[in-house]
Amino acid sequence: MGDIRNIVILTGAGVSAESGIPTFRSTAGVTYWEVYEDDLAPRHYRIEDVCTPQALANDPALVHRFYDARRAALAGVRPNAAHRALARLDAAWPGELLLVTQNVDDLHERAGSRRLIHMHGELRAALCAICDARRPHDGALPPGSACGQCGAPALRPDIVFFGEMPYAMDRIEAALARADLFVSIGTSGAVYPAAGFVRMASACGARTLELNLEPSAGSDWFDETRTGPAGTLVPAFVDEVLRPTA
Ligand code: NAD
Repeated sequence: MGDIRNIVILTGAGVSAESGIPTFRSTAGVTYWEVYEDDLAPRHYRIEDVCTPQALANDPALVHRFYDARRAALAGVRPNAAHRALARLDAAWPGELLLVTQNVDDLHERAGSRRLIHMHGELRAALCAICDARRPHDGALPPGSACGQCGAPALRPDIVFFGEMPYAMDRIEAALARADLFVSIGTSGAVYPAAGFVRMASACGARTLELNLEPSAGSDWFDETRTGPAGTLVPAFVDEVLRPTA
């Protein structure tokens, strides 16, 4: 892998697909989340109905119920070989490393990753819409739940909806500016600002690598694209990075 000291890795829904968490799907211009509930036939939730501030304002019961179900589903999934390989890299890498995930599941931390940012929030957390306090949260979160910090009945899922500002952008941009290697794993390259990270890293001199099931919307921006399942590509990539150089 050459002379690399600082690494930034971006992951998306594809890294958790082999654990059984569905990615987004698009048909005829409609993007939706296909989820399984109570072992019935899969249900489709349009992004506009569950992933926007307007959806939360119009139908808080639906949005809270949707994320309650996603939170509960975490009990039935486990980290896969890709999450485990990234945790191995985190533990072994002596230079700077930042794993930025767009995922709201907790599989990276359960695999053991420590240098991790959830830029789009976390299922296992609640956010106060009044005072912005963020707290770990498990179990159902009914609309109107009281904030432990300010007392307002305003807790919502700690999810960054479309149109809201992702978390920790300052830290992420600083890490991208210092990166020697930027790797994007299992992300469609359709959701900004994450989709722009490759250009930012590249402009600052990083080598850029994409690992995805298929070339993504932003593939042309990468120095190299490897296609295949993350559970196979990521462990091989980590072996390559950690291989001692002669
Ligand atoms: P996406 O669903 O838009 O795209 C997923 C990408 O992963 C696709 O390009 C697909 O080809 C690829 N992929 C599918 N299976 C793969 C595999 N086994 N190995 C490697 N790649 C695979 O996801 P996104 O780009 O992360 O953006 C969607 C948004 O949806 C994000 O903001 C994220 O917060 C949210 N989301 C999160 C989860 C989760 O937390 N697990 C799941 C679905 C969506």
